[in-house]
Amino acid sequence: MKYLSTRGNAAPQAFCDILLGGLAPDGGLYLPEHYPQVSKAELAEWRELPYPALALRIFQKFVDDIPACELKSIVDRTYTARIYKYCRPGQEASEITPLTTLAPGFHLLELSNGPTLAFKDMAMQLLGNLFEYVLDKRGETINILGATSGDTGSAAEYAMRGKKNVRVFMLSPHGKMSAFQRAQMYSLPDPNIINIAIRGMFDDCQDIVKQVANDAGFKAKYRIGAVNSINWARVMAQIVYYFKGYFAATQSNDEAVAFAVPSGNFGNICAGHIARMMGLPVARLVLATNENDVLDEFFRTGRYRPRGTADTFVTSSPSMDISKASNFERFVFDLVGRDPAVVRELWRKVEAGEGFDLSATPYMTKLPEFRFVSGKSTHADRLATIRDVWEKHQVMIDPHTADAVKVAREHLLPEVPMIALETAQPVKFADTIREALGIEPGRPKELEGLEDLPQRVIVMDADAAAVKKLIEEVCATGR
Ligand SMILES: *Cc1c(COP(=O)(O)O)cnc(C)c1O
Repeated sequence: MKYLSTRGNAAPQAFCDILLGGLAPDGGLYLPEHYPQVSKAELAEWRELPYPALALRIFQKFVDDIPACELKSIVDRTYTARIYKYCRPGQEASEITPLTTLAPGFHLLELSNGPTLAFKDMAMQLLGNLFEYVLDKRGETINILGATSGDTGSAAEYAMRGKKNVRVFMLSPHGKMSAFQRAQMYSLPDPNIINIAIRGMFDDCQDIVKQVANDAGFKAKYRIGAVNSINWARVMAQIVYYFKGYFAATQSNDEAVAFAVPSGNFGNICAGHIARMMGLPVARLVLATNENDVLDEFFRTGRYRPRGTADTFVTSSPSMDISKASNFERFVFDLVGRDPAVVRELWRKVEAGEGFDLSATPYMTKLPEFRFVSGKSTHADRLATIRDVWEKHQVMIDPHTADAVKVAREHLLPEVPMIALETAQPVKFADTIREALGIEPGRPKELEGLEDLPQRVIVMDADAAAVKKLIEEVCATGR
């Protein structure tokens, strides 16, 4: 399997060659040259498989440059009950992604039982083991530099901690994360994890990462890498849970299901789109946004109007607070019949700050074939949904999952099970839970006392030169 750029001007690459990089050299995103198909016989066999075996079958369709036994060992180490043990209070760890039925035909697929209590662990844990394998084989090292407002940075750190040949420098805004999120990241004792709290906002952290990455000499010398959401392996890892959710919510492969996905950078739901393209019987993909509704607007009108950072709302589902959706280009590539010239032209407009409008084009008539519908949710909707699910079903959901449940309820199809994806546990967003329910969310017993552990963080001004100097120093000591 080779990987192509959505903009058509990069040489096709093998899986391991695109694993460590981000964008393709022409500015596009990598996608497989075609979507492998899943036959009826395969679907029947897969129905019975536990998560790791199912993941292996799916990854083998996309990865042909890692020997089967190595890939199996990576997958078995990634998807074990030992890692996905952080189940909600009162629940027993049973499966990697348990399905909870709220009402007949309405389910939650729980993706947040990993070490940072958010679904980003599902993909990031795989990435950690893949990085270790490829770096070891090639005798290379990498310094991952990232910026986080919470979920991504902690998932990356827990996936990369203790990994050979990998070091992580993670910038976070000083004093802006919740006490729980700070404790999660700053209490990691591993010497290859370096937390840097920047006196400033998340955007200041992001700017520093960009400035460092724009210094090509520094980037090459210190082998600076990223683990952002455009990474193909992260999208691939997420395809699995759509299959798992389908099997868990149906009795036979003659049935179809719908998924509702709380969306930000379009990584999660892009995996759902690919699962459907592979032949999974998906009747509907429900895309939910919060007040930052760039994607909802596109699926309703055909207009894609990325906002500036200044026009991005800070909301109570913060991991969906985006101004543009970095994986959306992958879907548009498929929508325009995989014509890279069209994608180049559309993203020339996006990069010029104009956005684009497909409403009067033939692509808009094609859109329904892709089965997307969308909707948005507000802070008041989140509170009402969290309350309603708690009162009716005694299940506590986090604000992101609430966005999905709210929009899912507006797009039910008769006789088709709806699976809303649970993307984080409520304890990560305790303020909103308190506001909605007036009670303190519980936490997995393994994380009791988390905030009392010793913390390790370097506090710095928002200064790219100082961050570079720190990277040089740490690398010089060879830790
Ligand atoms: C990242 C994140 C999302 C958004 O997922 P995308 O793949 O960016 O669309 C939703 N909910 C939570 C809790 C997240 O951390």
